[in-house]
Amino acid sequence: MSKRDYYEVLGVSRSASQDEIKKAYRKLARQYHPDVNKDDPNAAEKFKEISEAYEVLSDANKRAQYDQFGHTDPTQGMGGGAGFDGFGDFGGFGDIFDMFFGGRTQRGPQRGHDLEYELEIEFEEAAFGVEKQIQIPRTETCSTCTGSGAKPGTKVEQCSVCKGTGEQQTVVNTPFGRMVNRKVCSACRGRGVHISTPCPDCHGQGRRRVRRTVSVRVPAGVDNGTRLRIPGAGESSPNGGQPGDLHIVIRVRPHEVFEREGTNVYVDYPLTFVQAALGDEVEVPTLDGAVKLRIPEGTQTGTSFRLKGKGIVRLGSNQRGDQHVRVHVITPTNLTERQKDLFRELGKELGETPQEQTRSFIDRMKSAFLGDD
Ligand SMILES: [Zn+2]
Ligand SMILES: [Zn+2]
Repeated sequence: MSKRDYYEVLGVSRSASQDEIKKAYRKLARQYHPDVNKDDPNAAEKFKEISEAYEVLSDANKRAQYDQFGHTDPTQGMGGGAGFDGFGDFGGFGDIFDMFFGGRTQRGPQRGHDLEYELEIEFEEAAFGVEKQIQIPRTETCSTCTGSGAKPGTKVEQCSVCKGTGEQQTVVNTPFGRMVNRKVCSACRGRGVHISTPCPDCHGQGRRRVRRTVSVRVPAGVDNGTRLRIPGAGESSPNGGQPGDLHIVIRVRPHEVFEREGTNVYVDYPLTFVQAALGDEVEVPTLDGAVKLRIPEGTQTGTSFRLKGKGIVRLGSNQRGDQHVRVHVITPTNLTERQKDLFRELGKELGETPQEQTRSFIDRMKSAFLGDD
């Protein structure tokens, strides 16, 4: 039923060092190990209790939590672990504790909440990096009262109802024994202080909501979904702890000409029949401006040319990807009579026999229809 105090289980004082805890555990574990106590039916239970106590007290975090809250396992007595996931918005253990017992002033400083902000940037800004000023609404420590909640020049007094503890206790005698009910102090709503003259700017809250301009340095190479963290730029702590972080999620606007895959950039480039057949030197847009690209004689549609190092920098390095130029041969339309005549003449000149690639394609098609013989 009710669990024994972990310190009591290990027989150590609350101020015991890690060494003392370890020693006590080893001694008891040897004494109650189920293998050496086959005759004692309680040994296994005892051993479990010792192990559990050691697991908590040997871990600095778990121990601190236990010191403050005792046996409060959020996954128990709340409908099991599944329900626990539903509290994703909360800061964890401490906040769940808050839900039941209200804000407490006795526990240590709480970290401010993290904030998330979606930042949309241009393709080139993602490629080369950019500095952006963003406006975020966040809760900050009130600068007028520096967080006390009292009007400057007035005093903050201890709450006389709860004596500054932030909670009220009522002791009820029941058939099962004395029960102590703890609830949030109604006079001070758990803050433990009485403010006779509230700060006019935060209405006694000590914090207020402001729109703050934050400067964000976006490094070169970010992509859709890249997350940047600005430590300490989140919300302020309600009780003098560290502020939370600001998380920036990058969204990159699509570009009219460039496409991107990782650090590589892709560009579709149209060629005329004549350029493809005779070759040419063309100007291709890149992130660094136009560069000349030699199109060799007899270039087929769909051919890709690589411009080495003209892609996007790999985040956190200075290595750049490549740019790939995919050419597309455009079939001429709306020909004049004279142009058509020229094409007919060219066709005759090229002869009835299709070129190598075309012929082998026709052969393959024939065998697909007729079957190989
Ligand atoms: Zn204030
Ligand atoms: Zn109070």
